[in-house]
Amino acid sequence: MAVKVHSKEVKKATRDLLLKRGVAVSDIAKIVYEMQAPYNDNLDMEACIESVEAVLDKREVQHALLVGIELDMLAEKKMLSEPLQQIVESDEGLFGCDETLALGSVLGYGSIAVTTFGYLDKEKIGIIGTLDSKAGDRVNTFLDDLICGIAASASSRLAHRMRDLEEKEPSETEQAG
Ligand code: MG
Repeated sequence: MAVKVHSKEVKKATRDLLLKRGVAVSDIAKIVYEMQAPYNDNLDMEACIESVEAVLDKREVQHALLVGIELDMLAEKKMLSEPLQQIVESDEGLFGCDETLALGSVLGYGSIAVTTFGYLDKEKIGIIGTLDSKAGDRVNTFLDDLICGIAASASSRLAHRMRDLEEKEPSETEQAG
């Protein structure tokens, strides 16, 4: 039987890759804050960071990141076969596999994640816009969508958590009173 890669190893590789590609957890958390602040007066950055961290701990998300970033890096080194090389390198608008991979990692977080993903993919807020700007020889065809996905998942997760907290507090106070 093939030896399985330990989850810790996958997790670390994902975190290292994100940093290598210029994405910090706080960059993603800032987008989450922007998405959720209108709905939660008590929202702080700490909660947004915690939510991004939780999404990054999901194996499915890690795998999507590993696949997508690998393809971006291979395209940068011109190591993909044609015509895929040209398609990924030029971030061909009708390619769609970048969005599909990211969307797949979002589905576990429900409808808020899916609609937020679509919004972020269009609006390209914060670090997503930076990644999409195609600076120099960098290829971020997959990464920009994957970051949309993580931010969308973390936003959805947070929305549901905030409601849980809201509903918990009054009854606890009642009981205490
Ligand atoms: Mg893309």
